Amino acid sequence: MSRPLTDFEVAMARSVFGDAVDYGRVRLANLIIGKFAVTLGSLVVFPAYAPIPEDFTEESVWTQAWLMHELTHVWQFQTRPLWTLLSWAGVFLTGGYGRGLPGYRYAWPPPAWERLNLEQQAAMVEHAFSLRESGRCKSAPAGAHLGAYRACIPLDF
Ligand SMILES: [Zn+2]
Repeated sequence: MSRPLTDFEVAMARSVFGDAVDYGRVRLANLIIGKFAVTLGSLVVFPAYAPIPEDFTEESVWTQAWLMHELTHVWQFQTRPLWTLLSWAGVFLTGGYGRGLPGYRYAWPPPAWERLNLEQQAAMVEHAFSLRESGRCKSAPAGAHLGAYRACIPLDF
């Protein structure tokens, strides 16, 4: 079972990614096992403990930010598929998906966008979205602020 994005979800995603994502190709699904969401191409698979809501725009900012994280991966796959697969393999092979998820951490101030791996990029979009929508983000590095995210992330949000 999978579903496309709702019109409200597309509008929310468009406020971050603009026209950089082909939203019509995106499908959301739930997997029976696993602890993490996985995005491959335009398919976003959430773990069993997090059933896909009818509409993410009615959920908490934290949950919406999770969708923005996964849609960052959709954006990466749609625009730079080879880089995305290689970056994923790099994070996997260097233990980035291990305990504490070190592959997701990024320095502050952030390095140039191109030097970040796929998870660091997705984490930055996730944190910037939370800051924009709620004014705070507990997961962001100390001192992080929206202006710096906007300067680093190559999106007009
Ligand atoms: Zn991710």
